[in-house]
Amino acid sequence: VPKIIDVTVPLSSEVPTFPGDPRFQMDFSHRIDRGEPYNVARLTLGAHSGTHVDAPYHFLSDGATVERLPLEVLVGPAVVAEVSAASRVDVADLERIDLDGEQRLLLKTRMSGQLRRPEFQEDFVYLTPEAAAHLVERGLRLVGIDYLSVEQFGSPDFAAHHTLLEAGVVIVEGLDLSEAAPGRYQMACLPLRIVGADGSPARVVLWKDA
Ligand SMILES: [Zn+2]
Repeated sequence: VPKIIDVTVPLSSEVPTFPGDPRFQMDFSHRIDRGEPYNVARLTLGAHSGTHVDAPYHFLSDGATVERLPLEVLVGPAVVAEVSAASRVDVADLERIDLDGEQRLLLKTRMSGQLRRPEFQEDFVYLTPEAAAHLVERGLRLVGIDYLSVEQFGSPDFAAHHTLLEAGVVIVEGLDLSEAAPGRYQMACLPLRIVGADGSPARVVLWKDA
């Protein structure tokens, strides 16, 4: 039985959110300790809470919503590549990664593990628009990163998101790749099947082929 590596951030009120997004909240509509027969949690959260997937509809008004993302893209072989970039991942960083024949790339940066800190960090490592275009040219179908956005904080035009989503590339954000050594894995990334949503939290796991 292969070891399964969980690269999902635990969802709680402690997890930071992108500024302005709804924070994760949980309370209970039913509680055993109030004399009711069962517990039922009520969740309030943004679609981009914790580890999550961006669907094209996040930036494209006629783009696919999250329930329509193909499972064939969300599940399959993936490369975890470590990049040492302090602030941004550029084309030169990507050219050092062997992407021949690969469809899924997860970028491990200095941000992996940083979502355990409740304060949002504006200086997170991002993907330049040129790097996003490079990944489209290389035929990637899914790109993941380990903080809450692929985009430079404060970007006026969201060019990296547009480049990826217009090409149909699935974006996964908020990964924690601390426990995943660079290399090739099998991946399952399963966002909730929420009809009409622009994204969804996802459970993302990796394992090595036996
Ligand atoms: Zn995003």
